[in-house]
Amino acid sequence: MIYQRHIPREELFIAQLEALMQNGRVATLSAHLVGVVATVLLFWQYLPLSVTLLWAAGFMILLLLRSLQMSNALVERRFQSNPRRVYWQLLIGAAVTGAIWSAIYIYAATRVPNTMQYMFLLVIVMVTAFSVGYSVIIREYFIVYVFASLWPIAWWSLVHYWDQSYNLLIGLMLLAFCALLVSVSDRVYKSFRNMISLNWERETMAQELGELTNSLRDRNRQLRDARRQLTDLANVDELTGLGNRRLINKALQDEINRARRTSTSLSVILLDVDYFKDYNDNYGHPAGDVVLKRLADLMQRATSRAGEMVGRYGGEEFILVLPGADIRAALRTAERLKEIVTAEAIPHEKSQIGEIITVSQGVVSVMVEGDLTPHEIIKRADNALYKAKHEGRNRICID
Ligand code: GH3
Ligand code: MG
Ligand code: MG
Repeated sequence: MIYQRHIPREELFIAQLEALMQNGRVATLSAHLVGVVATVLLFWQYLPLSVTLLWAAGFMILLLLRSLQMSNALVERRFQSNPRRVYWQLLIGAAVTGAIWSAIYIYAATRVPNTMQYMFLLVIVMVTAFSVGYSVIIREYFIVYVFASLWPIAWWSLVHYWDQSYNLLIGLMLLAFCALLVSVSDRVYKSFRNMISLNWERETMAQELGELTNSLRDRNRQLRDARRQLTDLANVDELTGLGNRRLINKALQDEINRARRTSTSLSVILLDVDYFKDYNDNYGHPAGDVVLKRLADLMQRATSRAGEMVGRYGGEEFILVLPGADIRAALRTAERLKEIVTAEAIPHEKSQIGEIITVSQGVVSVMVEGDLTPHEIIKRADNALYKAKHEGRNRICID
């Protein structure tokens, strides 16, 4: 049965890590790189060039290392094998990156003109705001970053509110901005989680549906095979593999209908083994079975024309249905059968008419007009067979 599966917590966590690194890797690198370039452009005149360049180079190396670490974790699928470790590495990376921004701000605040300082703050705020979109997939990651970058600047500004005219305002605004970011990030984070869960559930259901479809297809095949086997069991004689009375009656009815439609003749031969009871008594029932199988094979060989059919009509009685055969053709087939059976020369020392197995045959040929049932044709063939038995066996009689 298909039921709505819910993503397990651990699975969700792993999916979040993967999504964060996949989306965040390039975005982190590029947003911060733009920030670094802007910072260098702002400060190069006001801070010692060596400090600015050293800071920029160090920061870029850190960003590069973080990006490398993420892509390695993705390639080696470490977020699956060791998600906790990847999680902590990400948090530490975010904390260090954020701290570098706040540190350079606090360092520069007293050394560069106020306009540059405010422009720089704008850069930091923009980089932070930009990162909400991708880094909030894991909320702690975003919050750690915000608290490492903006929060220290806010406190520093509040603590030094008397140093610069706008420090108090900046501190308060940054605190408000942090609160806003935290609350906005909560919403974004929840919709990310929902999206990941829904995706996972959809994929799981699609997979389950696929498996279910496959197993249904298998079941269907098994049912079809079983039905075919059942049909075979109902229509095929187990000992000889020939059609049984049920199948022959049905086939005969079809042939009667066809013969009526096409105004062609239809012949039937009923064949009975002579003194077969004596054979069984003498050689045993299993040996009798072997003879019946051999005779069945012989009869199949004797009826080679399309549409001709051989069946086991009961006990040691066989039937041949010969569509389109008139009495002459049917007699030829019967003669051929008689010869084949004689040529096979199956020993039967208790037979009262010789030393080998022989058969008696009753032949009937009809042109179908009006109502004629399989039963009526077989009855006539049986009469002919009776005549053959009566006249001494090992012979062919017609009705
Ligand atoms: P007849 O020439 O008059 O036909 O003599 P018969 O002994 O063949 O006649 P009857 O119909 O009395 O005997 C048929 C025998 O066929 C009886 C039975 O033991 C045997 N028989 C019927 N079905 C099977 C079978 O499946 N296996 C074996 N081994 N014998 C069978
Ligand atoms: Mg018999
Ligand atoms: Mg019999």
